Amino acid sequence: MRITALSGGVGGARFLRGLVKHLDSRDSDEPHELTVIGNTGDDITLFGLRVCPDLDSVLYTLGGGVNESQGWGREDESFAVQAELKALAVEPQWFGLGDRDMGTHIARSLWLGQGQTLTDVTAKLARRWALPEQGVTLLPATNTPIETHVVIADPDSDDPTAERAVHFQEWWVRMQAKTEAKRFTVAGMGQAIPAPGVLEAIRNADLVILPPSNPVVSIGIILGIPGVRDALRGTRAPVVGVSPIIGGAPVRGHADACLRPLGVPVSAAGVAGLYVDFLNGWLVDDVDSDIAIPSGPHRITHRSQPLLMSDTDAASVIAGGAVELGLDLMQARTAP
Ligand code: GDP
Ligand code: CA
Repeated sequence: MRITALSGGVGGARFLRGLVKHLDSRDSDEPHELTVIGNTGDDITLFGLRVCPDLDSVLYTLGGGVNESQGWGREDESFAVQAELKALAVEPQWFGLGDRDMGTHIARSLWLGQGQTLTDVTAKLARRWALPEQGVTLLPATNTPIETHVVIADPDSDDPTAERAVHFQEWWVRMQAKTEAKRFTVAGMGQAIPAPGVLEAIRNADLVILPPSNPVVSIGIILGIPGVRDALRGTRAPVVGVSPIIGGAPVRGHADACLRPLGVPVSAAGVAGLYVDFLNGWLVDDVDSDIAIPSGPHRITHRSQPLLMSDTDAASVIAGGAVELGLDLMQARTAP
């Protein structure tokens, strides 16, 4: 079975770890191939280093090196370099980069500086974290540098209509998403092309899964790369999504502050509405079992089960539910 998943950081990574566990536990002679298309809109250059937070969360989580309580960064981490940068008054200090984590960013920046693509660099990092051994290929969504920006009211202006765009990380991390976002823009998106293998992975998959990642600044960014949405509409594989919203609120993070500027209800149904043109199956939490999915060009089948990824076993059961829904949709298509 060839499965392709689109992923952001923490929510995506935890789901994917559960998915790998589920696929390993399946009674099947056929080995699985899991291709993960990772969001690069969160990427940022700090202290001259290229940081790819979502790709790194996937690498560290699948590789067993993640700080479990945070869901990002490394376990057994120290902050000596950052402390020295602080002593030197080097900004920004609001983005914490640990010493081990910095090793990743130094290697990535070095390799990119030598002319390697982000695809190549990510493949090297994936080998470090034993992703190939797990049947996982991690692809950046694009090798074109893109950056999600958040348009907010300009805090330094008396003109109430004045706006300023800040890097997504500044809004998310420094401002804790408390400053109202007016809209999101993606610098570089006009020139962006999908990274090698991305469209093929969607078109040639047996099943496409959208993990419970942020629908706007994780999945939404990948969908905005020219060609990706069309590939999802055109793939013969069923597309199954897992809701990141349970009972009208995100499980963690600030997805609510991302949905509001789009005028999208903070609900499992609201998020499904963002995907109606290509979604076939939607997994929601039991508390949302009676949702009315917005109508679209085709039928969307929804099922409910507990969706809290409290640990890897729970995430594996959730991933199993998504795979089962996908298999049932495949079977319904081939049934006479
Ligand atoms: P980020 O890039 O680190 O913000 O991570 P993602 O975009 O991949 O995932 C963020 C989303 O994951 C948030 O909208 C959360 O609501 C969702 N999420 C986190 N933990 C859980 C969980 O246990 N269950 C579900 N259903 N969603 C979750
Ligand atoms: Ca992210």
